[in-house]
Amino acid sequence: MNEIILLKLGEVVLKGLNRRAFEDKLTSNIRRRLQHCGSFQVYSKQSTIYVEPQGGDCDLDGAFTACKQIFGVIAVTRALACPKDKDAIFRCAKAYLDQELRQAKTFKVETKRSDKRFPMNSMEISQYVGGLLHDAYPHLKVDVHRPELCVHVEVREKAAYVHGPSQPGAGGLPIGMGGTAVSLLSGGIDSPVSSYMIAKRGVQLELVHFFSPPYTSPLAREKVEKLARELTAWCGRMKLHIVPFTEIQEAIRAACPEDHFTLIMRRFMMRLAEAVARRTGAKALVTGECLGQVASQTMDALTVSDEVCALPVLRPVIGMDKEEIVRLARKIGTFETSILPYEDCCTVFTPRHPKTHPHLDEVREYEKALDIQGLMERALAGVERITIAMEGQP
Ligand code: ATP
Ligand code: MG
Repeated sequence: MNEIILLKLGEVVLKGLNRRAFEDKLTSNIRRRLQHCGSFQVYSKQSTIYVEPQGGDCDLDGAFTACKQIFGVIAVTRALACPKDKDAIFRCAKAYLDQELRQAKTFKVETKRSDKRFPMNSMEISQYVGGLLHDAYPHLKVDVHRPELCVHVEVREKAAYVHGPSQPGAGGLPIGMGGTAVSLLSGGIDSPVSSYMIAKRGVQLELVHFFSPPYTSPLAREKVEKLARELTAWCGRMKLHIVPFTEIQEAIRAACPEDHFTLIMRRFMMRLAEAVARRTGAKALVTGECLGQVASQTMDALTVSDEVCALPVLRPVIGMDKEEIVRLARKIGTFETSILPYEDCCTVFTPRHPKTHPHLDEVREYEKALDIQGLMERALAGVERITIAMEGQP
């Protein structure tokens, strides 16, 4: 069977003059993402991207699954190619969608004809193929408004294509079109979701994780690497920057009031993440903060942590309820890993009564007891960079 995958472009098609660049980025993202599924020809034509297997050993199921996780695509469908001939189209529809045609009670045929040299117009093709299908499956009734099964016929340049209903794509914009951002990835539920949400807007991510051995265990670190790997299904290949945080946490505990511990620690996270952004050319930071979720996520607390960085801080889950975040975490496949019970550096030395409405002046005053620059330099000197490859790829 000459089966292929058709991808419908999403917002990409709205981009006017940039459209070409968007399509090129998207096709190259698709090529990279399908490398481990075999050899495919990928090209775009008329708001559709064609993914055609080259040779018999391609994993079409794997490719189809991967295509549903590529940003910039709104719908994905498998289709069968056939010669551009009205009877060949009917035979193809009957063979390819036999099971669906047997199960449905109502149907219609919908045709798009972009090859205007084809001797019948769309309506005539639909009527012809629909008529023959009706004869072949006498139990079927035609319903042009709400059919149970819509048989799609597309007559295009190279061939005709037949397919059933399409499945939703990942939406969003092709990764790389929106520049690069540094995402702060903890082991929690929220930050994988916020990473996914920003990647969806076409942003390539650099991941930063702070770890505090021996207070946090190697298992906690492995958990974060696992989360990062799970994210690659959506976000593509990424770099994970692992930043040693023990000395900073110990210094804060030794020199600052307990109720300000988390706030000052978060300021260091922002400063260090911004330093990584400068090194990597990233233009924003991303966190999984959510308004009111914990003491360090009140508006006053966010003011205190924002003050130390000049880059915009993107907080895509800021207005979401935990339940909504969890639903997304399940959808993108990170939830089960996020709830593994290893401690994060945020849970080391947590104050009994954290300050919820801090004052900037006070915080700055307390920080004077710390050698901020020295602590930063040593943490940055110890950063370890790991490339997180897509699952199934080296
Ligand atoms: P959850 O509330 O589910 O634990 P979380 O870990 O994302 O999610 P917090 O611990 O409150 O929530 O942290 C807020 C944000 O700070 C995180 O979303 C993440 O972006 C960042 N962050 C926290 N801890 C770390 C860490 N160890 N490394 C990198 N970023 C972190
Ligand atoms: Mg957390």
